[in-house]
Amino acid sequence: MTKTNQKPRIFSGIQPSGNLHIGNYLGAITQWVEMQAEYNCIFCVVDYHAITVPQKPEVLRAKIMETAKIYLAAGIDPKRSIIFQQSDISAHTELCWIFNTITQNGDLTKMTQFKDKAGVDFNSLEKGLSDSWNEKIFNSGLIKKIEKEKDISLALNSAHEVIWDFVQSFKLQFNKVGVGLFDYPVLMAADILLYNTDVVPVGDDQTQHVELARDIAKRFNNRFGEIFKVPEVKIKKEGARIMGLDNPEKKMSKSAASDANYVALTDEPDKAAKKIMRAVTDTGKDILYDKENKPGITNLISIYSNLTETPVRDIEKKYKRKGYGDFKKDLAEIVKKFLADFQKKYNAISDKDVRRILNEGADQARPIAEETLRKVKEKIGIK
Ligand code: ATP
Ligand code: MG
Repeated sequence: MTKTNQKPRIFSGIQPSGNLHIGNYLGAITQWVEMQAEYNCIFCVVDYHAITVPQKPEVLRAKIMETAKIYLAAGIDPKRSIIFQQSDISAHTELCWIFNTITQNGDLTKMTQFKDKAGVDFNSLEKGLSDSWNEKIFNSGLIKKIEKEKDISLALNSAHEVIWDFVQSFKLQFNKVGVGLFDYPVLMAADILLYNTDVVPVGDDQTQHVELARDIAKRFNNRFGEIFKVPEVKIKKEGARIMGLDNPEKKMSKSAASDANYVALTDEPDKAAKKIMRAVTDTGKDILYDKENKPGITNLISIYSNLTETPVRDIEKKYKRKGYGDFKKDLAEIVKKFLADFQKKYNAISDKDVRRILNEGADQARPIAEETLRKVKEKIGIK
């Protein structure tokens, strides 16, 4: 099977930041492994995305190797798929710059990832302003006082003070956020669109970013003439959003504050088992899949179901007369065994082989990217 056949193309990547976890594995990588048979695949270690938050250079260098090794250990086959390091192909940042010129600030301020990571949300600014007004002015007894004293300037001064403080703290937060974090989705659009990608398999937190890539493709095509394919997102039915073990209301993340949030693919298996045992569960005792009312146990059922390929209903049946303790003990064993097997494969891959695979991958991907960039430069009139 060659890498240049006529099959539809997929492109996806993971940032070499923090510790890759079972969320990345179940939401993204397992899809990639399966799709290798049907698609022409390009998998990228997106190092320029990783530096949108501060990284220590020596740690970043090691994480790039670790991420590529995880792709290989999971079953990405370099004979069938291209694996490369984003920064090895300068067309990514060049196309990102060109896309910046057709992207609006409003396209990016609405991105959930930006709001979460930067702590800046213009909708909450609006809400905050009206809450400030309601809480501090209407509900504070001030209105009654004004009615009594008929002094409107007191109300205006007070409102001004509250709103001024709120706006200043928002501005301070916005101004200290890195431009790279803001611009991240535009670079991601460039990553995807450089390769005439048909399908982007990701976890569901990335849907919004793929949507932007689609919008940018359409916008460019409309303005300058057809070049870009408009890619589809592909999300798994179960496992597309694995939640944090310490807080099942938020997704599992490499950048989480505590390592109790995730099971890393490189965690020592016994340590991972302990994390499962300590995972936050819900009140009650039934093993039931119910995202709304039982997010903790539902998340653990989802991990169980994905790792063992057991339908959720069968898991519920199996644990019908059992409690959280029994279920967690079994899941801890499943995770332990999964990690032991995974790490055996991971440890068998040498750094030297990884470097060679990444170099060969870049050599294969570069001509595709450069050809797209050449066409883009022609269309916009700089070539
Ligand atoms: P970070 O906190 O640094 O953003 P991350 O865990 O979100 O890290 P990414 O590198 O941003 O990881 O994402 C890599 C891939 O893993 C993407 O396809 C993303 O959708 C997927 N992914 C990330 N977190 C989860 C999760 N909790 N469940 C399922 N898929 C996930
Ligand atoms: Mg992420």
